Amino acid sequence: MKYESEFELGNYLSDAAAVLATRSDSPRLDAEILLGLVLRKPRSYLHAWPERMLDEEERHRYNLLIRRRFSGEPMAYISGVREFWSMPLRVNRQVLIPRPETELLVEKALNHIPEDEEVRVLELGSGCGAVSLAIAHERPQAEVISVDISEDALTIARLNAKLFKINNVEFLHSNWFDAVRGQKFNVVVSNPPYVINRDEFLLAGDLRFEPELALAGGDDGLECFREIIDRAHNYIVRQGWLLFEHGTDQERGIRRLLEAQRYYDITCYQDAAGHDRVTECRFVE
Ligand code: GLN
Repeated sequence: MKYESEFELGNYLSDAAAVLATRSDSPRLDAEILLGLVLRKPRSYLHAWPERMLDEEERHRYNLLIRRRFSGEPMAYISGVREFWSMPLRVNRQVLIPRPETELLVEKALNHIPEDEEVRVLELGSGCGAVSLAIAHERPQAEVISVDISEDALTIARLNAKLFKINNVEFLHSNWFDAVRGQKFNVVVSNPPYVINRDEFLLAGDLRFEPELALAGGDDGLECFREIIDRAHNYIVRQGWLLFEHGTDQERGIRRLLEAQRYYDITCYQDAAGHDRVTECRFVE
């Protein structure tokens, strides 16, 4: 009898949670979400039927997922989904996992996009599309152009636009501004790679599994900001806005770059954890 009960879902869950306890802050939750994926059932089902037996194939598939999580792979890559701005977006290992603090970038950008005007918005570095899709969703009148150098990222971003039926955003393959030469935008936003190269950070935690292309920002982490700030004023309407997400210790470096290029009204905002996270500014010709 004992042998059989080992295959009961409730016991299996407890064992899996115990295995993950050394690797995750939320082992029980992770174990439940992963079993839900295997059985294609909501977590409530697991609570309702703890004595339901897992067959051999289910146990096999579950063990594989638990092993991936145990190796440190982020839940978002295993499940293929991460929620951002209340949208469960598709993600894979070709794109950065959207961070909750990036919602601050969306919030600040929306402040400069009136609801009833046909504002043109440009995002540099679409990733899975999180920021562009949130803005486009909140401002149906706006026309959002979103560029990325990674075709793989664009594939995911376009899929997300389709899944959420968001039609006022166009995803383009481009190295920063290259594909939008000659165009002007009211608002330009970017969450570029800004982690210092060879930072022990890149080798730690979730970042190990994320694309370096989306994270590594050169020796001082400011390389992408430098390039974008050098070029951005050609693409921003008079008194238009430029907004960045950046690292917690990059506010001063970015401010210096902006001041050297005649940007003004420079303001830095803190995220929910109290860290410098978003800087906005305007451009005057
Ligand atoms: N916020 C991310 C991190 O430090 C980095 C994102 C980025 O480089 N744009 O985990």
